[in-house]
Amino acid sequence: MTLRLYDTATRSVRDFVPKTPGKVGIYVCGLTVQSVPHIGHLRSSVNYDILRRWLQHTNHDVTFIRNVTDVDDKINARAAERGISIRDLTEETYKYFKEDVAALGCLPPSVEPRATEHVDQMKTLIERLVKNGCAYVAADHVLFEVKKMQDYGKLSKRSLDEMIAGARVEIAPFKKDPMDFVLWKPSKAGEPAWPSPAGIEAPGRPGWHIECSAMSWKHLGETFDIHGGGIDLVFPHHENEIAQSRCAFHTRVMANFWMHNGFLQVEGDKMSKSLGNFITIHDLLKDWPGETVRFTMLQTHYRQPINWTIAGLKESQKNLDHWYELTAEAKPGYLCSEVVGALLDDLNTPKAFAALHELRAEAAKGARPAAASLKASAQLIGLFQWSAAKWTSFRPASISIDERKVQRLIEARSAARAAKNFKESDRIRDELAAMGVVVKDSKDGTTWEIAR
Ligand SMILES: [Zn+2]
Repeated sequence: MTLRLYDTATRSVRDFVPKTPGKVGIYVCGLTVQSVPHIGHLRSSVNYDILRRWLQHTNHDVTFIRNVTDVDDKINARAAERGISIRDLTEETYKYFKEDVAALGCLPPSVEPRATEHVDQMKTLIERLVKNGCAYVAADHVLFEVKKMQDYGKLSKRSLDEMIAGARVEIAPFKKDPMDFVLWKPSKAGEPAWPSPAGIEAPGRPGWHIECSAMSWKHLGETFDIHGGGIDLVFPHHENEIAQSRCAFHTRVMANFWMHNGFLQVEGDKMSKSLGNFITIHDLLKDWPGETVRFTMLQTHYRQPINWTIAGLKESQKNLDHWYELTAEAKPGYLCSEVVGALLDDLNTPKAFAALHELRAEAAKGARPAAASLKASAQLIGLFQWSAAKWTSFRPASISIDERKVQRLIEARSAARAAKNFKESDRIRDELAAMGVVVKDSKDGTTWEIAR
C-alpha cells in the first residue's frame, strides 16, 4: 500500500515517503489574483485535492499551502485599466477563486499565504543570497547570479541556450549575464513599494520567484515533501525557486517531489480570450454542479492535457445523475480495492473511474454492496458531497423552465396514472419532454430533471 508519484526532478515514478512519518508538507503555486479564474486555474486545485484526500485518509497530518500572488506587474496593469485599487482588485479575484475551488469540492488549504504579507521573509532571503555571493546589486535591482549554481536547469533539463530562448530573458545592461534573474527591483511611481534590502536606497518590490521560496520556508521549512504546480511553471519559475532556496539554505533539494499537472484545452484549442473560448468557473457553475466539473476533470490523468468539451460535461452529468440515483439509499460501504490501487499508482483517476463504472453496473443490477462501495469509493475522490435530493433539484440558470407549470403537469400525470389512464399520462410525459423535462418515477414518487 505505497503511494507512488511521478517526480519531475528525477523523471520517474517513485515511492512517496514523507520526511517525517505521518506528516506531509505540500506547497502549490496558487493564483495571481488579477482576473476571474478560468477552468485551467482550477485543474491544479482539483488534482492536489485528490492527493490530499488520500493522504488524510491514510492518517497523515497534511499541511497544504497554496499561495496568493498579490503583487505582480499584471495586477498593477489590470487595476490601472479598471480604475480600481490593487487591494480591491486582488480581494475581488481572491473571493471568486475561493468560491470556485469550494464549489468544485476542494478542501480549503491549511494556510493561504499572501505575497505582500511575506516581504520581510523575502528580504531576509535576498540579504542571505547577496551575503553568500549568489546574488548581486546593480542599478537598484538585486539579481540572482545563475552561474553561481552548478546544476541550475536540472529540474527542466534544459541547456543554458534553451533556457535563454524559453525565458524570453530581459537583456538589461546592468545584468552580468542575460540568465540572471530579478529578486528585487525598484518601484515606479504608483506601484506598490517597500524599503529595499541589500543597502538599496530607492524603495522597491520583489520579483515573482522569490515569494514562493519565502512562503514555503516560513510555512514548511527549508526543505519539504511535495512542491506542485502547472507544467508551465517548471521553467523558469520552479527552476528559480530551487536556485533561491537551495543557495540560501545550502540544501541538496528544495522539495523531495515535484509534481506538475498538464495543460487544458477547450474543444481542441488553446483557451484564450481572442478565440472566445475562455471559460470561467463562475460561468460554468451557473449551468453545472461543481461536482460535474470535478468529475469531468478527473476523467483525464493529471499529467495529461485535458481537452475540455461540452460533450464531456454532458457525459459526466449523465453519469452522476445515474450514480446519485443508484446510491441514494446506500450507506458508504467498503472502499473498492481497484480504486485504491489506481490512486496509489500516481493518482491514476481514469483507472479509478473504470473500476467505479464496474461498481455502477453491479449496483444497477441491484447489488447493494456494490452501491455502498460505489458511494464510499467515489467519496474518497471528493464526489457525492451533495444529498440525492439536492442533486436532483439542481437547475441550470441558462435554461428557463416554468417550474410551476412542470409541477402542475406532474401532478396531473400522477392523477392520470392513479386512474390508470395511461394514454393521458403518456401524453403529459411527452408534453414535459417537449419542454426539456425528463420525468423519473421511483417508489418515493416522481422527480424531474432538465434534459441536457
Ligand atoms: Zn511559486
